[in-house]
Amino acid sequence: MDTRGIKNFYSVLAEALPDRWSEDGVRKVSHLSTPEGLLGKNEWILRADYSMTVGRWFIEGIVDLGRYARNSDNIGHLLKEISTCLRELDPSAPLDEIMATSRQLAMFAWREVEARRTAGRPSIDRALKNAVWFRDEPMQRCYLCGYRFSAHAKDRFLGRSNAPFKPHSLVDFTRPRGVKPRHLGVELDHVIPVAEGGATDVHNLKLACGWCNIVKSSLWSVYDAKAWSAGVIDHPSLGLTSVPQPLWMLRIVATRARCEAPEGCSARLTTNELFVAPRNLKGALTPTNLMVVCRQHDPWAGHRLISPTLLSSR
Ligand SMILES: [Zn+2]
Ligand SMILES: [Zn+2]
Repeated sequence: MDTRGIKNFYSVLAEALPDRWSEDGVRKVSHLSTPEGLLGKNEWILRADYSMTVGRWFIEGIVDLGRYARNSDNIGHLLKEISTCLRELDPSAPLDEIMATSRQLAMFAWREVEARRTAGRPSIDRALKNAVWFRDEPMQRCYLCGYRFSAHAKDRFLGRSNAPFKPHSLVDFTRPRGVKPRHLGVELDHVIPVAEGGATDVHNLKLACGWCNIVKSSLWSVYDAKAWSAGVIDHPSLGLTSVPQPLWMLRIVATRARCEAPEGCSARLTTNELFVAPRNLKGALTPTNLMVVCRQHDPWAGHRLISPTLLSSR
């Protein structure tokens, strides 16, 4: 860990933060590079989400994919538009390099165009529900959090029961599944959101619990989080504690998909429900301090379940 680098990093931040709506303040921060160790063990997720986000912004800033999604131009038109733009952006680059890069970008962008052209939300019928359920039946778990569906949830999903779910009297404060009846049901999640052209077919649908499906919505990046945290609660045994931002938790659990207990553990998302806990127990559950654990290696075992009224009263 680059302790001295972190000191310098914070001295620049401290100076610039009050100035964050001025060009001077923002430029100072933009010159910083992230010191080693600052991003923690989830560094790869934080960097990947950043790269995927700006990668998409860059290409959509060259060609408006929304326009291609609505017109009937082909990939040749797209390639021409991209190469013309790249030549303007970098007039000194050799032509073959421009063309090779343009082809790469066009292939990337074209997938998105095709997806958006075929997008729509066809209703999910019983046959499709059955097809996804029976494909994933050995698991019978939410693919995002590992929650094992109840027999009741299965019956409702497959249309064999109409009996409503009862909300839970105690919920995990980091993932309050059970506050609402919908949280407990089985739902079909579009892995690639409909809004991005994800198809409504067996390849793009997976079984998710209602809670995860609501949180994920059409979001995927840790930088999509709408708020720093979901609030602070007065926890009965932990005291004042920040509730983690739901999307951060979901993203990191689903992506890491295994228990990270330091002593080693074979628990995976496909076989166990997984939870988040702080690496540094005194710290809040930020994406840099968030660790995925199984029930057995949970440092917060015994502290998770609280009355939903504590959550809603914040
Ligand atoms: Zn879930
Ligand atoms: Zn474990």
